[in-house]
Amino acid sequence: MLAPPGAGKGTQGERIAARYQVPHIASGDIFRDEVARHTPLGERLRGYLDAGDLVPDDVVLSVILDRVLAASRDDGGFVLDGFPRTLTQAQAAAKIASDTGASAQAVVYLDAPVDVLVERLTGRAENRADDAAGVQRHRLEVYAKHTKPLIDYYADRGILVRVDAAPPADEVSGQIFAVLDSIVG
Ligand code: ADP
Repeated sequence: MLAPPGAGKGTQGERIAARYQVPHIASGDIFRDEVARHTPLGERLRGYLDAGDLVPDDVVLSVILDRVLAASRDDGGFVLDGFPRTLTQAQAAAKIASDTGASAQAVVYLDAPVDVLVERLTGRAENRADDAAGVQRHRLEVYAKHTKPLIDYYADRGILVRVDAAPPADEVSGQIFAVLDSIVG
């Protein structure tokens, strides 16, 4: 899944995982859980999450890659939500994939206009500290700078599936399933 904050990546990621019976590996959820449990890793992550900054690539890779490999091996697949988020992460994921066969069949890109994103982020601001107005804007900027280049990266590899994320969630799921059914069966 590739999407700006507020596009509905978490919701759609869960639905895709349920439909194809594979684990939903959401980097943001994993990191927030570490922070909430005050683990040593969580204490390292807190500042990045609160500020809406990216967690350093080496930390992200050390947490996420093992889970991806385990899911690929034990569950026959995975939905990756929130990773990769930088070109460095994408290249590391590609390297592991070519070594192990845990490669991505499709990259679902949820596209929505910025006013829709801001409206959705504002709507859930009571639930997530990093959805407060100033941090929201910063996360959108971080996305534009570091993550948006992955759209071309995956389009060039022929696996990008662009879906309009502005309609209601059920309609977006329908669009995603229509394409993924034809790819993963
Ligand atoms: P959103 O897509 O709404 O910004 P996420 O739950 O995917 O939310 O991510 C929340 C936060 O977790 C990010 O702002 C960032 O601090 C951190 N994070 C999650 N995934 C990554 C990643 N792959 N690389 C770096 N930081 C990440």
